[in-house]
Amino acid sequence: MRAQPKASHFVNGDYVEDTAGAAIEVVYPATGEMIAVLHEATPAVIEAALSGAAAAQKAWGATRPVERARILRRAVDLIRARNEELSVLETLDTGKPVQETTVADWPSGADALEYFAGLAPTVTGETVPLGGDFVYTIREPLGVCVGIGAWNYPSQIACWKAAPALSLGNAMIFKPSEVTPLGALKLAEILVEAGLPAGLFNVVQGRGTVGGALVTDRRVAKVSLTGSVPTGRKVYAAAAEGIRHVTMELGGKSPLIVFDDADVESAIGAAMLGNFYSTGQICSNGTRVFVQKGIKERFLSRLAERTAAIRLGEPLDPETQLGPLVSEAQLQKVLGYMQIAKAEGARLICGGDRAALNTGFYVQPTAFADVTDDMTLAREEVFGPVMAILDFENEEEVITRANDTEFGLAAGVFTADLARGHRVVAQLQAGTCWINAYNLTPVEGPFGGVKSSGVGRENSRAAVEHYTQVKSVYVGMGPVDAPY
Ligand code: NAP
Repeated sequence: MRAQPKASHFVNGDYVEDTAGAAIEVVYPATGEMIAVLHEATPAVIEAALSGAAAAQKAWGATRPVERARILRRAVDLIRARNEELSVLETLDTGKPVQETTVADWPSGADALEYFAGLAPTVTGETVPLGGDFVYTIREPLGVCVGIGAWNYPSQIACWKAAPALSLGNAMIFKPSEVTPLGALKLAEILVEAGLPAGLFNVVQGRGTVGGALVTDRRVAKVSLTGSVPTGRKVYAAAAEGIRHVTMELGGKSPLIVFDDADVESAIGAAMLGNFYSTGQICSNGTRVFVQKGIKERFLSRLAERTAAIRLGEPLDPETQLGPLVSEAQLQKVLGYMQIAKAEGARLICGGDRAALNTGFYVQPTAFADVTDDMTLAREEVFGPVMAILDFENEEEVITRANDTEFGLAAGVFTADLARGHRVVAQLQAGTCWINAYNLTPVEGPFGGVKSSGVGRENSRAAVEHYTQVKSVYVGMGPVDAPY
């Protein structure tokens, strides 16, 4: 077992095991080899996490923000110093190339902790003068927050949720995806080493039922989920039962619109990054690439050339650019979508099948042209390296078609005409947009979706709204004027 953690869970400041929980086998996606076995949280583990978090949060919420920040800043330094080993673990857990994990996963998580450590001490209330009497407001922590993660960016997701929650005085119980349970345990270990008091960041493993038990507990004030729309519907409904705060970071089928005046090489680069990075397993990917007719054939031929040069291989090799999909189940799902695209008449430009490697869950980076709006490939989230290219004639038409989806996570526009870039973005129904860029999500900018892609925002000042609540205090400065 190459990546066996000390124990399955991290509760009340230490690793905890309970082998009575069902086994979770962790597989290295590049080989199919089992690298760790963990156990689902039993009711006893869940209870320990909930009661520990509720108890620890009281003192933490009353701690001076700069003191909380100092601890998180120390964690940032530990993460950066250990980036290499953490990134290798992330690669083993997800199959993503170390070329990516060393620059994207933990580094982005460290950025989030650093940003919210800096931001939290600046969060204040306001005073509202009333000509004598006045109102002042206090931004208070919510209490115990539950974070539930997807498997595509497991450690980054854990950090993106932990950073605002902890810096603003909350406790967190985090349930990773059962497919990628390892990184969040390291985050818990590092936070405690940095000085975080026991009970404030807990990791409990398990499938949806464990998540369900957390979401419905009366001690939980908020739920932040990163996952698919169907799971989002269930978790949102369960949270609503207790009128809990929610952040929902869900799936997408985002449009990337390339006008014929665009820098074509940049647009192709963005389309490739926005479909093939992380083997296409990114929620905000531009999986509907609308290319204006004038540049279509040039776009397709250069895309095929550049895609042919992508280096697939062993993710631990620093030269590897594309790794396997995360699991056998995801492999079958993606191969299924490739078959449907062929059957529905999309034109295969490159890829279209399993990659010829002897082991692991590899598929070829794939692009289909002549995709039409009604095809399955244009409507459903594939979550694999499968680009759908659609033609368009004019601006008005492409905006209508781009918005014709239940999703609204992200959108991108490539054009040399910046006025058009802003005009188009203003009409796109998406929470996160890019002009002449794609998929860049710095912690300084808000991230999240509209329509079925979610509610709430992660990162930036916007996240403060989602991890605090406002208390309003009216102060009477004179005698009470009662009519009776
Ligand atoms: P998923 O199947 O929806 O699962 C997400 C998480 O929810 C997992 O930890 C899962 O546990 C848990 N879960 C499932 N049912 C639950 C329930 N009834 N109650 C509580 N928790 C429950 O998503 P995934 O396949 O892991 O990840 C891929 C999806 O995530 C894609 O749709 C992608 O677009 C989305 N995503 C969105 C963002 C964003 O920021 N918008 C970022 C990354 C990914 P188990 O899987 O362990 O059963």
